[in-house]
Amino acid sequence: MKKTVSFSKNSINVFFHILTDCNLRCRHCYINREQHGKNTLPIETIAAWLGAFADKTREANVIFLGGEPTLHPDLSLAVKKANSLGYKSITIDTNGYLFHDILSKIKPNELDYISFSLDGATRETNDMIRGKGSYDKCTAGIKKANSKGFNTSLIYTVSTENIHELEMMTPLLKDLGIDRFFIQVVGIRGKSAETDQNIRQVSRQEWLNTIPAAAEKVADLGITVTYPKVFLGPEETFECAGLVADNYFIFPNGRVYRCPLCEDFPIHGMVFENNNLTPTEKINESDFFQLNIPEGCVMNRLIQPDNLSYNGDGTPEYQIACCMLKEEISNK
Ligand code: SF4
Ligand code: SF4
Repeated sequence: MKKTVSFSKNSINVFFHILTDCNLRCRHCYINREQHGKNTLPIETIAAWLGAFADKTREANVIFLGGEPTLHPDLSLAVKKANSLGYKSITIDTNGYLFHDILSKIKPNELDYISFSLDGATRETNDMIRGKGSYDKCTAGIKKANSKGFNTSLIYTVSTENIHELEMMTPLLKDLGIDRFFIQVVGIRGKSAETDQNIRQVSRQEWLNTIPAAAEKVADLGITVTYPKVFLGPEETFECAGLVADNYFIFPNGRVYRCPLCEDFPIHGMVFENNNLTPTEKINESDFFQLNIPEGCVMNRLIQPDNLSYNGDGTPEYQIACCMLKEEISNK
């Protein structure tokens, strides 16, 4: 069954970058250390910031991210803290290297998912994007996590470099025992915004021709598939998650964004100061969310306008959806 997953207005989603350090140098890495800081948060700070979002009256979900979060020596303590604070779901996003023996320090029932990033069905394509040896490390990490009883998901970031291998992922996902498959669109920020990386978003036609069909095939195996909507149809209404949802993207320098497309700029709407969450001065991302433009998402118009197209009279051919709006297919 396919459904559009509208923003979860009754839950709080925390995307917590606990450090920006990473052992890999992926060509499309969105982490911008100039903007996001270079420090590793002490566990006491992680605990305090988790506490700021652990709302007892509403469901709160957390995803631990980096850099590579398993490079943090106290990631297992962060997971335990999130559990004790009552977080409804807890996920770790990893490149698969699984440092600090993380799988031995947490139990499967303390975590909802470990989410692995793989950007090619073949070693050649994945390693050309993510670095030599990363395919073997990631697939070995998935197998190890499954053998220990963890739920595993996989994130595939689609770009011009790897869309040709998306269909080939279907047998691999089954072979690896993946429960959930997330297809992402590469963002033009961080390293992928540098022209020498030569990594680009696919065209609208290629996206529409390829992604939904590939997702259906994976879903037929009983794996839940999620992918961003990206292009709105004429009958669909645009909504900005920054105005209607509770998503928080936290960085180790204390910046807290509501919108991931804003992360390359110092326009975060909030900041942690002495562990207190404080609104920032104007102008910040919230001022952009208010702007009503015919193209849909304002930040998309500003930082990745190549995915827009216009009619002869200057009106947009279609609207770009909020990057947080997803399609989900589940044939379980
Ligand atoms: S995309 Fe993730 S794994 Fe790759 S360099 Fe960036 S933080 Fe590391
Ligand atoms: S991606 Fe666009 S629509 Fe979504 S929160 Fe950011 S500015 Fe709003």
